Amino acid sequence: MLQQPIVSFIFSTLDTKLLTLKQLQQIHGQILANGNLVFPPLINTFLHSCHRSRNPNYASHFLYNLPPSFSKPSFWDSMMKASLQSNNLLNFFTCYNAMMCCRDPNANSPSAGMFASFFQYGAKFGDPQFGKLFHGVVVKLGFDSDVVLQTGLLDFYAKIGNLSCAQKVFDEMSQRDVVACNVMISVLGKHGFVEDARVLFDSMLDKDSYTWNSMVSCYLKVGDISSARLIFDRNPVKNEISWNVLIDGYGKLGYFSNPDNLGDVVALYNQMLCSDLSPNQSVLSLIIQCCASFCVIQLGKALHCQIFKWNFKHDVVLQTGLLDFYAKVDDLSSAKRVFDEMPYRDVVANNAMISALSKHGFVKDAQNLFNSMQEKNSVTFNSMITCYSKIGDIHSAWLIFDSSPFKDVVSWNAMIDGYCKAGDLNHAEELFNQIGYVKNSVTWNTMITGFVQCKEFQRALQLFEHMQAERVKPTEVTMVSLLSACAHLGTLEMGEWIHNYIKKNKLKIDVVLGNALIDMYCKCGSISHALDVFHKLKVKNIYCWNSIIVGLAMHGYGKEAMGYFCKMTQEGVNPDGVTFIGLLCACSHSGLISEGKMYFSQMQTVYGVEPGIEHYGCMVDLLGRSGQLKEALELITSMPLKPNAVVWGSLLRSCHIHKDTKLGEQVTQRLLELDPSDGGNYVFLSNLYASLNRWKDVDRCRKLMTESGVHKVPGCSSIEVDNVIHEFVAGDGSHPQFSQINAYLVEIGKKLKDEGYEADTGSVFHDIDDEEKEGSVSYHSERIAVAFGLMSTPFGKVIRVVKNLRTCNDCHTVMKLISKVYKREIVMRDRNRFHHFSNGVCSCKDYW
Ligand SMILES: [Zn+2]
Ligand SMILES: [Zn+2]
Repeated sequence: MLQQPIVSFIFSTLDTKLLTLKQLQQIHGQILANGNLVFPPLINTFLHSCHRSRNPNYASHFLYNLPPSFSKPSFWDSMMKASLQSNNLLNFFTCYNAMMCCRDPNANSPSAGMFASFFQYGAKFGDPQFGKLFHGVVVKLGFDSDVVLQTGLLDFYAKIGNLSCAQKVFDEMSQRDVVACNVMISVLGKHGFVEDARVLFDSMLDKDSYTWNSMVSCYLKVGDISSARLIFDRNPVKNEISWNVLIDGYGKLGYFSNPDNLGDVVALYNQMLCSDLSPNQSVLSLIIQCCASFCVIQLGKALHCQIFKWNFKHDVVLQTGLLDFYAKVDDLSSAKRVFDEMPYRDVVANNAMISALSKHGFVKDAQNLFNSMQEKNSVTFNSMITCYSKIGDIHSAWLIFDSSPFKDVVSWNAMIDGYCKAGDLNHAEELFNQIGYVKNSVTWNTMITGFVQCKEFQRALQLFEHMQAERVKPTEVTMVSLLSACAHLGTLEMGEWIHNYIKKNKLKIDVVLGNALIDMYCKCGSISHALDVFHKLKVKNIYCWNSIIVGLAMHGYGKEAMGYFCKMTQEGVNPDGVTFIGLLCACSHSGLISEGKMYFSQMQTVYGVEPGIEHYGCMVDLLGRSGQLKEALELITSMPLKPNAVVWGSLLRSCHIHKDTKLGEQVTQRLLELDPSDGGNYVFLSNLYASLNRWKDVDRCRKLMTESGVHKVPGCSSIEVDNVIHEFVAGDGSHPQFSQINAYLVEIGKKLKDEGYEADTGSVFHDIDDEEKEGSVSYHSERIAVAFGLMSTPFGKVIRVVKNLRTCNDCHTVMKLISKVYKREIVMRDRNRFHHFSNGVCSCKDYW
């Protein structure tokens, strides 16, 4: 019979302490002596105590020696569960074997439920052997028709990811309840067999919320947002989890990062408010993030109120989300208020505040907060490094970096970025080489972008080759930088290669990447490819429209540029200043005088875009080129802005074209007052004199130029042959094939002479400096590049040359002749526009 006081004593002893083996033995003795074996709770407590005291073997020993009539399956069960819970398979099997050896088949057989729980724990280890072993055992013991056990087994296979075994168990089940079907749906979904999951889903008569949610989850897993949404909308038993699954899935698929889905996000949120289910913290947090990324001020503020109403005001995660939202929508004072009102601030909240202050340029406040923080993590240090490197204070950034105990790849990346932004590529590269194996794709992107920002385009492309050799997967960001490098260099082949790479690797061509491609194709001279990319873009923003309009303008497609402008406004995209620069250039390059005047007057009156100095520059160019020099001068003198050197410069070029020396001299005087260091002005004036054979004035001009110590940028042309960029500077004989090129140039000269070509001596001094020293126009860099192109590329291939300066009259004539004599198309990009030479004519119609 039970002796209560002793039992209580044993309970309390077992409950309070970690027991030594000796103590366990003593208690064991007391249990036996007092005949308490009949009291199962005490036995269970004792067994657990053995486990807790890390003496599971003693528990096995106790059970093994228990008289059969006292032994109960639940004892073994709890023992084995305890072993599984503590992940101790050795104990588990010792115990299991003990049970199987000593069990009395009549009174003491293991139950199906016991095995079901094994599978449940077994799934946690993810050990297929474990599950298969007991699968065999339950078949042998004849439990395989038990629904609960079968579901447990199914769940086990599902969790360890063994679809075929799961399918087999499911197919062989005598009866399938909703739980089993749910498990099957989610395992099918997990392996991407969404259609099979859907068939099962449709065949189910009883569906619970878990069924619906699993189906939604299946679709989201494969990125099928619309089907997921259909199922979600049909679900009659939506619960909080349904919302979480949908919104979380949306978040993972980047649905919230596409501004086009904003309307839907707002609708979803309102629907959720009407459904009487209060959203949980993670859903709210995702929606706030969405508001923050797209600056949806109204919804964000509404959420702020709801968060208050639903009593989440102490939730540090949500409050941090709000802080971040206000910082991103540039409402720093509200961000500060949220921060100040937070009852408790963790390191994440503090970090968010540091980035908010950094973003708005409050570096000192950020530093003060940084100093006051008790707990800092890597993000804290990294935010502070970024804060300094952004404002170009690379020294302070370095001090923070150096003192950080949590230097990770983000810290290194921030420092590399800082050095690149400060134009210090040497230090940036030094760090880049130091960080070794922890480099990630951001590191590579930062360095590649750094090269592009510092106009080291070839180095950017070379680094990309290294990146490939090291098998680092580039991202969309890498591609945007590389395309920008190609655009600057005018390397069409490389640009096309990158476009193919993007397609082959299925990188997402969004507006940013799409725009980079359009820009690259335009600047590399392939307007048809640019148009192709443009038309394939599903979403176009103002930048894409601007790129295509500016591109068409550069290629002299004035009418087409106007057409795209028309389409753009029809599609409801409002033009900006850049659009009008493109349009006015288009009109100017194509001699569309009245159209240009119309756009210039409409830009403010119809589209509300204030003309800037660039627009006046375009107009002066447009009027001047067409010979309306007086009108151009009037526009300059009447403009509300102070005319700059560019505006005067374009009038000077027009004076040169129309040989108006008097006005030209006046303009040059103004130009020299504005910018005496710009050698281009002297060159223009001397060209103007030269064209009128006023050689004394030419000499005077050149003397002035030498006296003022002015240096002119040397003319430089490049051509890409077999993915290698060859650069030619006039008079520079360093190219390995220089003597061959030279011989070829002579040959070209002879052939052109036979065609009746005579050098235009008036242009000898045009736009040149080093070229000038050579004393002969036949050595202008674009001619060397074209000669090299003719030599090294097969007949029929378009020769593409990029020149850093404007091409001169004489070279322009020569290009036209070469295109006819050699039957080769030549595409040349000069500083201003594209010339497509073909069969003796240029696309610019000699108007550039
Ligand atoms: Zn030339
Ligand atoms: Zn031309």
